Amino acid sequence: MSLPVIHHPDYTFDLPQQHPFPMQKFAVLREHLLRFNNHLQWHEPEEISFEQLAQVHSSSYLQALFEGALTRDAQRRSGFPWSPALVRRVRLETAGTLLAARVALAKGLALNSAGGTHHAHADFASGYCLINDLAVTATTLLNEGSVKRVLIIDLDVHQGDGTARIFADEPRVFTLSVHAARNFPANKAVSDCDIALESGADDATYLETLSAVVPPLISRVSPDLVIYDAGVDVHADDRLGHFRLTDSGVFARDQWVLQTVRQAGIPLVGVIGGGYDRNVEQLAARHAFFFEAALTLGKAS
Ligand SMILES: [Zn+2]
Repeated sequence: MSLPVIHHPDYTFDLPQQHPFPMQKFAVLREHLLRFNNHLQWHEPEEISFEQLAQVHSSSYLQALFEGALTRDAQRRSGFPWSPALVRRVRLETAGTLLAARVALAKGLALNSAGGTHHAHADFASGYCLINDLAVTATTLLNEGSVKRVLIIDLDVHQGDGTARIFADEPRVFTLSVHAARNFPANKAVSDCDIALESGADDATYLETLSAVVPPLISRVSPDLVIYDAGVDVHADDRLGHFRLTDSGVFARDQWVLQTVRQAGIPLVGVIGGGYDRNVEQLAARHAFFFEAALTLGKAS
């Protein structure tokens, strides 16, 4: 019995000093996961192609991204200074989510140790998100006929605005976003289901909301695959979140989502989503809860 985990060493690269994004968390998360190494089955993605990304993103945007021709404003909005390492990273991360989805379709469950770049739009980057891995994964699988309906459960504290806009006219993908009402992005998109919670939401409020919303959606949508964004920026100590979830609340959330989806017999692919804490050790430990929760299922083949 082992849990498929997708990881690449180049998920992490050196950003300029003082850059606010905690890029090291991916490397530290790997160290955390090695503690459960006997129960994990590692997979390494290869960079996704331009053509695969062009199923979702505009060619002009992709060209500018690949060639380093993004304008200064576009780079500022992305949150990252452009570099070849950045492009390699996002191509690996996106390929990682797609690979995880393929493994999940075969085995029931697989988790990417990155991903969840839900602010990326078809033709621009936003909020540390350059390519929308959730959208590329769902679209690729739909286009090749591997799935007919996909449910995206986005529990990152920020709204999945890029995903919502990309799939606004795509009835085969249902987008659920549970997020903080007063947080980035200021200008919210319209998901198929938006649950905007007030700042200060605690474990009880949050988990009650999920149990009221998610099971009926699973029955209604009846997806062939659930893509779950398990952002930990819902945690009380997160720098960019406005909720008050505890460690045990985050763990309980992930365990509940995994159990609920898997008990319905639906494959689940997980991505780690957002998490912003100056203490990278604590942050990586928080992301590791997702993998620990998956191991408690005891059902990953
Ligand atoms: Zn977030």
